[in-house]
Amino acid sequence: MSSLNDLKRKDLFQSKGYINGSWVDSSSSKTFDVVNPANLDRLATLPEMGASDCDKAVAAAHEAFKTYKKTSARERARLMRKWNDLVIANADDLALILMLENGKTLAEAKGEVLYGASFLEWFAGEAERIHGEYVPPANLNQRIITMRQPIGVAACMTPWNFPIAMITRKAGAALAAGCTTVWKPAGETPLSALAQAVLAQEAGFPKGAINVVTTLNNVAEVGKAICEDKRVKKMSFTGSTRVGKLLASQCANSLTKLTLELGGNSPFIVFDDAKLDSAVEAAIMAKFRNSGQTCVTANRIFVQKGIYDKFAEALTERIRKLKVGAGWEKDVFVGPLTHDRAVEKAMSHINDAKKHGGQVVLGGSPLERQKGYFIQPTVITHMNREMLTTREETFAPVVGLYEFDSEEQVLDWANDCDVGLGSFIQTENIARMWRVSEALEVGMVGVNLGLLSASESQFGGVKESGYGTEGGRHGIEEYLVWKSILINVAN
Ligand code: NAD
Repeated sequence: MSSLNDLKRKDLFQSKGYINGSWVDSSSSKTFDVVNPANLDRLATLPEMGASDCDKAVAAAHEAFKTYKKTSARERARLMRKWNDLVIANADDLALILMLENGKTLAEAKGEVLYGASFLEWFAGEAERIHGEYVPPANLNQRIITMRQPIGVAACMTPWNFPIAMITRKAGAALAAGCTTVWKPAGETPLSALAQAVLAQEAGFPKGAINVVTTLNNVAEVGKAICEDKRVKKMSFTGSTRVGKLLASQCANSLTKLTLELGGNSPFIVFDDAKLDSAVEAAIMAKFRNSGQTCVTANRIFVQKGIYDKFAEALTERIRKLKVGAGWEKDVFVGPLTHDRAVEKAMSHINDAKKHGGQVVLGGSPLERQKGYFIQPTVITHMNREMLTTREETFAPVVGLYEFDSEEQVLDWANDCDVGLGSFIQTENIARMWRVSEALEVGMVGVNLGLLSASESQFGGVKESGYGTEGGRHGIEEYLVWKSILINVAN
């Protein structure tokens, strides 16, 4: 079994909040526990912060912004590169912390650390490409230029499913743009964010540029305090649509600029002409990464009539071989779910599918283990559109297979939902690939693959999956404002 004692660098484990360059307790002295979801061992006890702690964190970021905004883009790029190098140098330790608090396997955790670092490297480059414009004036007595400036204090509220990469995708962009930050990691997985703060501090970011508010039970109070604080100019949240809507309403009064990366309900469409083996492998990646807890997880797997039986059988056999267990156990591919609510939700979806005619051909119940939030990898055939999973994200290793006839029908079904984040299509027909990619009402389409995200590509959704975009060339713009300067040059 692995534990935090195995860390090579012990200082990467921190159990306090981080405000204005110091590790601090909550002003109420209250605490909460962080638990390993694979065996329910307590990993750490952290400060349960509240509104008054947020006030201090925002004040520190607000003060630091006065000087940090004046750093040169080159200087910020160097800080970002140093941070990136430190993350890579400490990847094993970061992966260990991540595995222990989130439950994903060690291999996956290592993958997330490197993926997380890729945002730091990417935004190090983007820091120096924040260009303005020379605007040809209609009035020849004028000259017009536009410039872009950092928006101010940015709040980064990150979820428990990607505790490293969501910090770097948000805070990496913000810090590269010249903003200072307040991080509010999910209460289930705050240790990864705290370890990142250690490394960012070591990279040389000034005091107050990074602040971390830790909370589990006070999350509503903390979220509200940050959103309603007029010194916070930008709020970026990844999590459920329910919470995203709440935060948007709380930001309305101060008109705080928002990026919302919310829930999805990704269709994964397998056409008759798909390559069977690679479609199965893509489905495994798209569904089982992080035990099904990704916002682009293949939630509705639509399979065309001609290939349905073969695909269902091949996928089920492949899933039967997936080993389930704690992230540190040998050959484990599917870890536990991160919290107990997730097990309840998955079971309610399985039971609802059964009630509406779904046939469970594999799994279907929690895994029999002494402890931990485990669920058996589950395959349900004969899915129909009456079922809860048709409308809600399952967020668990539960595969539901729907059979369809035509391209037109599957597009209708795929688009018939309130959210639109990721999607996947499996086809060897290039004309169909274009038609379907263009017609899907989503922010991202994966063609003949099972992984959707890259630091150099925009990530974001449409409809109730939120607005704003992260990563790519446009991710940094979320943290910038435009200013135009008009100059009278008349004699
Ligand atoms: P939840 O809505 O309770 O919490 C989601 C996240 O929001 C957590 O990180 C939590 O710390 C934070 N949060 C909750 N209330 C908040 C508030 N008032 N202010 C600020 N932050 C707040 O969801 P959950 O039970 O953890 O998961 C439920 C479902 O949400 C999942 O099954 C999944 O569908 C979705 N989800 C999506 C993502 C994603 O990556 N888009 C991440 C987490 C959860």
